[in-house]
Amino acid sequence: MAETKTVHSPLVTYFSMLSLLTLCPPFVILLWYTMVHADGSICQTWDYLKQHGLQGFINIWPRPTAIAWKIIACYAVFEAALQLLLPGKKVEGPISPEGNRPVYKANGVAAYVVTLVTYLTLWWFGIFNPSIVYDHLGEIFSALIFGSLVFCVFLYIKGHLAPSSNDSGSSGNMIIDFYWGMELYPRIGKNFDIKVFTNCRFGMMSWAVLALTYCIKQYEQNGKVADSMLVNTILMLVYVTKFFWWEAGYWNTMDIAHDRAGFYICWGCLVWVPSVYTSPGMYLVNHPVNLGLQLALYILAAGILSIYVNYDCDRQRQEFRRTNGKCFVWGKAPSKIVASYTTTSGETKTSLLLTSGWWGLSRHFHYVPEILAAFFWTVPALFNHFLPYFYVIFLTILLFDRAKRDDDRCRSKYGKYWKLYCEKVRYRIVPGIY
Ligand code: NDP
Repeated sequence: MAETKTVHSPLVTYFSMLSLLTLCPPFVILLWYTMVHADGSICQTWDYLKQHGLQGFINIWPRPTAIAWKIIACYAVFEAALQLLLPGKKVEGPISPEGNRPVYKANGVAAYVVTLVTYLTLWWFGIFNPSIVYDHLGEIFSALIFGSLVFCVFLYIKGHLAPSSNDSGSSGNMIIDFYWGMELYPRIGKNFDIKVFTNCRFGMMSWAVLALTYCIKQYEQNGKVADSMLVNTILMLVYVTKFFWWEAGYWNTMDIAHDRAGFYICWGCLVWVPSVYTSPGMYLVNHPVNLGLQLALYILAAGILSIYVNYDCDRQRQEFRRTNGKCFVWGKAPSKIVASYTTTSGETKTSLLLTSGWWGLSRHFHYVPEILAAFFWTVPALFNHFLPYFYVIFLTILLFDRAKRDDDRCRSKYGKYWKLYCEKVRYRIVPGIY
């Protein structure tokens, strides 16, 4: 079994884990409460907490109810069934540190379409009203917080007792194992990939489902949908559609190829994505800003352009790797570095590093349009409150940390070749600045 290399030092892990466990669940609840019951105003929530103290906070924390568990269970079982049953091409993932090549079934687009069509059909024919989800959102988030914790304990135990491959291992420290995970590709049986489920089919799918939910809730509440809500929903849906269109590419990214299935990533996908990532839409339900056609179209166009550039960066890198550098990048033969490295089993392999196109501007340029897109689906909320912008700020911090983590990992993987890459492409994220 592979020994786990820790992502950060133990001290950072303890600090990060302690803050995640103690701060994030209350934050999710306070975010929901502020958006839904306190007019999106941090000051209002703050005044409430000042007046009522800890007991006041306990009073607003919704208990997970039977209906919340039912909604989550139906959604999870439906998504798991689609993942297992819908047809899809077999796709090979990248070679793992132990030299394995996991195989996936690429049926993300089909699952996405079936999910949204089913949800809209249930609403249209009066079988299930998405407003119910919005009305029980606090209870659902509360159930997700506890349910996901239990799920992460299951992952930890599975990693110890029944790992799915030799890309699994312990760091010798129980807390680090639980937090950063033990298995790279945990599976139930041969075909049900747990990370595809948590990250894509539960987490990312919930983003699209909740975006639609917020839009429908505003319609049911006001009899119409404001243009700000429409811009927000369309941009989020374009983003998630892009994600599923490119899902097989996602299986080559850090989340799947390098980060193990632990609390950090799984809890994030199961709780943080549905609550925090969708929060600008949650805010807009009760704040129907009217932007006017022209402004709405400008924001929409800027958002779509950002999502396109982000997609094109990922596409360019993957096309370059897929064709072994035999492709055109911005109409020219790509410039590259041939980097060799040694796997944990001692084999020497080579990878190509692209140094032109988007990847010649900075080493993680793709994060710039990612952050801009989030800004453009938030800005329809205008600037009356700070809270809708929390996701953009969080994303910026997350991606700056991720760029550093990725650079550190690549430096230790490629050594002198990575140094050469850094000399050629000097900036980490923002060309000319950082
Ligand atoms: P990627 O995994 O796509 O890219 C980083 C990896 O690519 C590196 O680990 C390295 O892997 C390889 N690589 C690095 N430089 C080069 C190069 N010059 N040429 C070829 N390969 C290179 O990054 P992310 O997973 O961070 O991002 C993927 C997408 O997900 C992006 O669109 C990003 O914006 C999005 N994202 C969104 C988040 C959100 O919360 N909204 C969070 C994180 C990402 P190797 O070992 O193979 O060399």
